[in-house]
Amino acid sequence: IAYELQDESDQRGNSGAKLPMGLKSRRLRVLVTGGAGFVGSHLVDRLMARGDSVIVVDNFFTGRKDNVVHHFKNPRFELIRHDVVEPILLEVDQIYHLACPASPVHYKYNPTNVMGTLNMLGLAKRVNARFLITSTSEVYGDPLQHPQVETYWGNVNPIGVRSCYDEGKRVAETLSMDYHRGLNLEVRIARIFNTYGPRMCLDDGRVVSNFVAQALRKEPLTVYGDGKQTRSFQYVSDLVEGLMRLMEGDHVGPFNLGNPGEFTMLELAKVVQETIDPNAKIEFRPNTEDDPHKRKPDISKAKNLLGWEPKVSLREGLPLMVSDFRQRLFGDDKSSSN
Ligand code: NAD
Ligand code: UDP
Ligand code: UDP
Repeated sequence: IAYELQDESDQRGNSGAKLPMGLKSRRLRVLVTGGAGFVGSHLVDRLMARGDSVIVVDNFFTGRKDNVVHHFKNPRFELIRHDVVEPILLEVDQIYHLACPASPVHYKYNPTNVMGTLNMLGLAKRVNARFLITSTSEVYGDPLQHPQVETYWGNVNPIGVRSCYDEGKRVAETLSMDYHRGLNLEVRIARIFNTYGPRMCLDDGRVVSNFVAQALRKEPLTVYGDGKQTRSFQYVSDLVEGLMRLMEGDHVGPFNLGNPGEFTMLELAKVVQETIDPNAKIEFRPNTEDDPHKRKPDISKAKNLLGWEPKVSLREGLPLMVSDFRQRLFGDDKSSSN
């Protein structure tokens, strides 16, 4: 375990771990892969605020320096441009492994889920760090069980257009469990359901970012298929709280982390209209292959074992990302006049 000297004034005292002689308290060194991305950068904000030393490893495939630039002057923060598909040597106590091309338009491009996860598990093993993998609700595929419970094994097409993501994450879970069982590595598995919020990639094709950007640009909202498919949308701060509770807790998981509030895409379009522009038009487009018909997390396990549940509803969370999107799209923020 890595220790660093720190001032009494900067103590967190979260772990109760016994300290070597001469050390006042423990400051965690945390690696966040994919930390310049949407979820990762919000996680980094929380870890930095808690007083940790944070290393972000990111190849900027979909992430942006802008998302973490506000930490650059802090000596507790380091940013390394690196592709996790290649090995790397670092000394840390915890690893949040988020690096992954995570949206339909990007995820077919590389083997991050398998090779990247293997390298980060190898690193965790070498330095005896606790390892958290951000898996996904996509491991349930087009689910035959509703809502999805962690014990459900899923319905995934192994040769479909989405399978590099679904199967990649399934392999990532498998590798994590093998390192846990075979090598006693401390692992944590989160299965994340659709998440939205500020700093979401603007054009990676996910539905919430698409609708919000379209409404702001006065373009029609593109609903794929008949729009009756459902998803359950979680605000990013709820997710980050869940990830940290999972990391700090005693349970391996997997844990579903998502908001059980379920919406059809047409209902989502309506909320976006109400929030941004009641006159926004809706345009129907052909749906992608293998699109899951419905998705909603059963979060009983996380409630019971992590004491976690989401707090921000879609109607509360959506406006919070609109001013960020407006700023990035038009370079101004008219949210106050909204
Ligand atoms: P994101 O694209 O914003 O973040 C992913 C980050 O990983 C980016 O910064 C990207 O540059 C980086 N990255 C990608 N490949 C890399 C590589 N080979 N080496 C180093 N860095 C690399 O996506 P996100 O929404 O923040 O997703 C974070 C994690 O959460 C991912 O593992 C994703 O699969 C998982 N997840 C997200 C959602 C969601 O709705 N946002 C749902 C389920 C699972
Ligand atoms: N690895 C890494 N950083 C480390 C330790 C390991 O990137 O600090 C990589 C290593 O190069 C290997 C992978 O992690 O490709 C798995 O490592 P492990 O030691 O578990 O397996 P082995 O090398 O014995 O096959
Ligand atoms: N979708 C849509 N319009 C868009 C983008 C996506 O109707 O502009 C639909 C998509 O077909 C899917 C749902 O929204 O049914 C969620 O898609 P997303 O890519 O955001 O997440 P995932 O499919 O990975 O859950």
